[in-house]
Amino acid sequence: MAKDKIILSEMDANFKNEIASMPGAEHFQRCFTCGTCTAACPVAEVHEDYDPRRIIRMCILGMKKEVLSSDLLWMCSRCYTCYALCPQGVKFTDVIDVLRDMAIKQGYIPKERYLEARELDKFVQELRCDLIDQKLHPDKKLDNKIKTKLENEIKVKW
Ligand code: SF4
Ligand code: SF4
Repeated sequence: MAKDKIILSEMDANFKNEIASMPGAEHFQRCFTCGTCTAACPVAEVHEDYDPRRIIRMCILGMKKEVLSSDLLWMCSRCYTCYALCPQGVKFTDVIDVLRDMAIKQGYIPKERYLEARELDKFVQELRCDLIDQKLHPDKKLDNKIKTKLENEIKVKW
C-alpha cells in the first residue's frame, strides 16, 4: 500500500470528508500519529506492511485509490484493540468497516468480499480454539480434523 512518492494531483482532497461523513468514522482526523494502535495491533505484529496509523495518514492525504484497492484493508481482524486504546477516540475498527464498505460500493473489489472476510474471521477463531484444545488435550486427537478444515479453507477462492 505504501508509495515512494506522493503526487498531489493524484490525491482526492475530498476522501477524508467522505470517510468522516460515515457513522463511526466521524473523528478519525483527530489522529495525532502516536502509534499506539500500531504498537498494540496483533496483525501489525505479524505483517510488516500492515499499519493502522499509516492507513489513517493515507486517508487524510487523499490516497483513495491506493487505500480502497489494497489487500491490507482485509487483513484487520476487527479485534477492537486499537479502538480501546486510542487516546484520540479514533475508533479505527469502525474506520476499517467504512473503508471496506466504500471499497465494495465504489467497485474497487467484488461485493462478496465483505461476507467472505467475516466468514474467514470466524473460521480463524474456530481454528484457534481447535488448536488450543488439541494442545491442552492431545488425547482428543483433533489433528486430522484440523488438517481437513484447513485444507478445505485453503481451496476457497476470493
Ligand atoms: S492510537 Fe489513535 S491517535 Fe494514535 S496513531 Fe492510532 S489512531 Fe492515531
Ligand atoms: S481492530 Fe484491526 S487494526 Fe485494530 S488492533 Fe485489531 S487487527 Fe489491528
